[in-house]
Amino acid sequence: MVKQTIKIFVRLKPAKPAKTGLYEVADDEEGHPKLTLTVPREHASGFVNNKRENYKFRFDKCFDQRTSQDDVFQSVAKPVIDNVLQGYNGTIFAYGQTGSGKTFTITGGAERFVDRGLIPRCLSYVYDQTEQNPELSFTVHISYLEIYNESGYDLLDPKHEAAKLEDLPKVTLMEDADQNIHLKNLSVHQANTEEEALNLLFLGDTNRMIAETPMNMASSRSHCIFTVHITARETGSATIRRAKFHLVDLAGSERVAKTNVNGQLLTEARYINSSLHYLELVILALSEKSRQHVPYRNSMMTSVLRDSLGGNCMTTMIATCSLEKRNMDESISTCRFAQRVA
Ligand code: ADP
Ligand code: MG
Repeated sequence: MVKQTIKIFVRLKPAKPAKTGLYEVADDEEGHPKLTLTVPREHASGFVNNKRENYKFRFDKCFDQRTSQDDVFQSVAKPVIDNVLQGYNGTIFAYGQTGSGKTFTITGGAERFVDRGLIPRCLSYVYDQTEQNPELSFTVHISYLEIYNESGYDLLDPKHEAAKLEDLPKVTLMEDADQNIHLKNLSVHQANTEEEALNLLFLGDTNRMIAETPMNMASSRSHCIFTVHITARETGSATIRRAKFHLVDLAGSERVAKTNVNGQLLTEARYINSSLHYLELVILALSEKSRQHVPYRNSMMTSVLRDSLGGNCMTTMIATCSLEKRNMDESISTCRFAQRVA
């Protein structure tokens, strides 16, 4: 059986009716979900055609702006975790421009309980499953990595609170004789309960925000990978199933205008462009039927995720789009990216 292991979804972020651009979500003749976006002439920036035009895309599913966090969890994440609990690695990416809802989708909003995103919902589901299967003993470990300008930082490093990002030891990649990737300086924490796991998420997110100030870095310019490592053993059996589940909040995909950009911003933009480009190349290579070379080594992110993309590993991308007129051209570019890898 050949599984379709790469799934692409789009999620539309609500916008005020007065500011919302023209769009349509409908099934096409073959029953595939279709999204049509229209660029308003006055907001066309030039990289999409500088005129009013419809752009049509097809995805595995379109989540319109009324879709709840629980709906997204049920359709996107639950199948991936179920596969992870069977012992296969899995990865979920959120891709889109800054402000389009990547962090809201992956981590969630802090204010209301219903706004919890995929990470807390996944954790809750994993611990529920461990309780419902007393014949299995599970161990859960958590790590949280941030990649900024191709350098890795441990968001759960206890020194993080006090230190500046540039003073922290960098997380580096090491490959063993069997070509397995190991991450040096990335701490891995055992979490025996949902609460312990949530505390680690909270600690990492706090560190992510603290680190922004000294370098004037916005989290929108780094990639964050939250990883749940699960080990399961059946009572009386020597077999151990190990799998990893990554939830990736990618750096903002927006183009940085070539004018008005200082050195640091330009450097960041280049790193982001190239890492998103290499991610695209890897996903493209994985979805090709032929067993062609998969170019994992080009970027830190694809190297880190090497054993968790393709094959039996479910790989899912959620393209997040803002429906505001002024963001329509970025939304089209997001959908184009997602369409290319679909
Ligand atoms: P990103 O991480 O892509 O930069 P955020 O997730 O931070 O974007 O979203 C920007 C703002 O929009 C936040 O205030 C967030 O709470 C809100 N938001 C994003 N997506 C949704 C949604 N689907 N429903 C309601 N609010 C949302
Ligand atoms: Mg964000």
